[in-house]
Formats: sequence, structure tokens, C-alpha cells
Amino acid sequence: MSVVSRFAPSPTGYLHVGGARTALYAWLVARAAGGKFVLRIEDTDRERSTQEAIDAIFAGMSWLGLDWDEEPIFQTQRFERYGQLIDQLLAEGKAYKCYCSQARLETMREEQMAAGLKPRYDGKCRDLTEEAREAFAGQPNVIRFRNPQEGTVMFDDHVRGRIEISNQELDDLIISRSDGTPTYNFCVVVDDWDMGITHVVRGEDHINNTPRQINILKALGAPIPEYAHVSMILGDDGKKLSKRHGAVSVTEYRDNGYLPEAVINYLARLGWSHGDQEVFSRDELIKIFKLSDINKAASAFNTEKLNWLNQHYMKTLPAEQVAAELAWHFEQIGVATQGGPALIEIVKLQAERVKTLKEMAEISRYFFEPVTGFDEGAAKKHLRPVAREALEDVQQRFAACSEWNTTAVHGVIEATCAALEIGMGKVGMPLRVAVTGGGNSPSLDVTLALIPQATVVERIGAAIEFIKAREELS
Ligand code: GLU
Repeated sequence: MSVVSRFAPSPTGYLHVGGARTALYAWLVARAAGGKFVLRIEDTDRERSTQEAIDAIFAGMSWLGLDWDEEPIFQTQRFERYGQLIDQLLAEGKAYKCYCSQARLETMREEQMAAGLKPRYDGKCRDLTEEAREAFAGQPNVIRFRNPQEGTVMFDDHVRGRIEISNQELDDLIISRSDGTPTYNFCVVVDDWDMGITHVVRGEDHINNTPRQINILKALGAPIPEYAHVSMILGDDGKKLSKRHGAVSVTEYRDNGYLPEAVINYLARLGWSHGDQEVFSRDELIKIFKLSDINKAASAFNTEKLNWLNQHYMKTLPAEQVAAELAWHFEQIGVATQGGPALIEIVKLQAERVKTLKEMAEISRYFFEPVTGFDEGAAKKHLRPVAREALEDVQQRFAACSEWNTTAVHGVIEATCAALEIGMGKVGMPLRVAVTGGGNSPSLDVTLALIPQATVVERIGAAIEFIKAREELS
């Protein structure tokens, strides 16, 4: 049997972390088996579904590298098919028209609740006589699925183990509303069947739907897929993950400077484990992922771990790959990088120093843009009158360099130290503030060598002027 799994989001909002994790697990099931992974957009709730949300889902999936096979299916384009099958079930007596009024259903519900019973439809229209049916003809009605009244429904959930529900617990589900539109559970069943789905991976909030869906699949003569219901995700504080916990939409993780590889690795481990291992490449996940290794317990979000993974991937992925994502961040903050150093150099230099690519872009502005001011604290400490002589000396030597590279820069700094008989820090820190605007940067020789010689000389000049102006003031 070739595996077909699916991700079936409702486009009522962005792709959130929980949805992305479900999508990842479904994707892994398919990729591990060399099967197919398909997307279905469950857009039947027309009021809440938006094109924007659909686009956000596609964008989030693409950014994560969760590619799908075949054109996505949209439920709103399939009403004819749902209608045909509802008619078929009616004709076969596997579904029936129910004429009960809202008022009757309400009263019944209240009475059942008052008696401490689980509210359910009493089956009044299940076996109407031919006469009664004729009397109701033309009146508003819904269509209910004739759920079996005997026996049980059983399935072996990959996460939760065997689940068995007595059919007596299950209602005769409405499959078509009075306006003729099919209901959610019915659409899911038809789609899973038509799409040849063999593995349904979804959130545990759907677990109560599964026995009902299985009964409808059986009535249609459709094969029953395998199921895996994934637990929910909690925030760092143990409460259900929500907006309050910071970014929950996948694209926000991109905005905040995370690499897709880090998010994928993080999401995989959030509710699934393989011994004590924390770091998994995508290919490795495909090789070892098993639905049965998904944890049953809810998983707690842990931003620190995500940060750790992000830094790990910034340092270990090929620099070109990280640089491509970094380029996007420079664009976001409006820094034009053409003409500056190659972004792979920035990645190699800064990966150690930051947790996210957003930070990396922010702290690397001085490679591409003029330094328009000095960090106040750093200037106060390092651009003082005593630093002027060192800066003037080092500036002259830089200006006279015939070559511009790490060794040349290093040689100049050492020469200034020797000439003025001062320690490295006395030259290095003022120079750092002069050229980068602040007191933090990677090693000076590498940093300066990536900035054009003339620019370095010019920036030192500006720092000297700054010190002079301060001298005059005091
Ligand atoms: N559309 C449902 C949701 O977003 C998923 C249903 C399913 O996977 O069967 O929660």
C-alpha cells in the first residue's frame, strides 16, 4: 500500500505552531514511506475563511520546506461531489431526512440535560412511515446519517493506542443542513476517501470525530485510514499555547530571525523523541520518524531550546544557505547589501554572536551603511582624549597600506601599539568604536578587512573629530 497523508487546515488564520507541527508529522509519514503528501483547504466556513489565510498557509509551508504533491484540494469546490454521495446514502437508506424543528430539538436537549443524560438525537425521524414522510414532503429538513445502533467502533490510534466507542454513544449526525450544505465531518470523510488518504495525522481535538467518520466511511464502502491524534502544545507557563506566548504563527518565526531548519527540528522534537537526541537534520528525520514515537502527553513550548537550535544551525549549515535567509532580513530592515562584503562572510563572523538572523542583520549594519553616530556608552568610555593619538597613528598607517586584508590590518594595529608603547586594548577599543559605532564586534582584523580601506580611514577621521569636539567642550 502506498502511503498518502494529508494536512487539512481551515484557513481562518495564519499557520500556527500547532498546525505546522501536525503538517510536519504528516509530511514525514509520507516522505519516510516514499508516499504522497497532499494539502486540503477546509474552507467551508465561508465567513471565517479568507484568501489571506490561505496564502499565509502556503507561505508558511513553503518557508518550512514542507512541500506537497498534487494541486491542493479546496472543499468549497467539491459541493457537487458531497451532494452526490448524500443522495446515494439517502437512496440506500443509510441516511434519512429529519424534519424535527429547532424547537423540538432544543426542548429534547434541555430535558436530557436536566435528567443528567448526554444530549443526543432520539431518532424520531429515523423510521418514519411512508405516510408520515409524504406528509412532510417539501418541508425544511436536514439529512442525518443512520449511525449503527449496535456494536462498537474501534481504531488503533498511533499515538493513543486502541480506542473503542459503543455505537450507542454516537448520534445520528447531521450530514446536510437545511440549506443543503454538507457538514464538516461528512466533507472530511469524502475527501479522505477521494484523495486516497491512508494516514490521518491531526490534532487531538478531532478525536471525537473519528468514530463518526469511520462509520460514515464504512457506509460508503471506503477503506479506513490509519489515525494519529497529536497532543496539544502548551506555552512555557503550562497554559495552552496562544498569542500571549509571543510568536505563534510560523511566519512570525521567520520575521523574528529563525531558520526553517531550526523550526523544523524544534517542532519535530516538540512531542516526538528518539532517545536523547536533540539535533536532527531533515533527512535524518525522514529516516527515523515513526508515528508511534509521538508522545501522548502535551508538550511545552521552550523558547530557549529553539534559540539554541537556531544558533546551532546558523553555525553548522552551509554558510550560503544561511546567507540566503540573512539576505531577506537585511531587506526587511532596509539595508542594501550590494557592494558590501559577501553575506557568507557575515554569517561566518557573526553566527557565534547572535541567537537569530534578525539580530545578525541588525548588528551588521556597519558593514553596509555609514556609521552615523557612536553608541553613547562606548563613546564615553573609549573615544576620550587619551585615545586621539592612537587613532591618529593607526589612521595614518591604514591610509598608507598598499594591501587591504586581515594580515595587513593586524600588522598596522601591532605597529601602532609598538610605536606608542601601548597595549592592544588602547588602540583596539577606540578603533572598534570608530569603525563599527559600538563596543561590540568580531575580531578587529577580520572586521576591518571586510570594510573598504578608504571607509575605515574616513570613519577613524570622524572619531578623531568627535574627540576634538569633546576636548573643546571641556
Ligand atoms: N481542518 C481541521 C483543522 O484545521 C483539520 C481536520 C482534519 O485534519 O481532519 O483543525
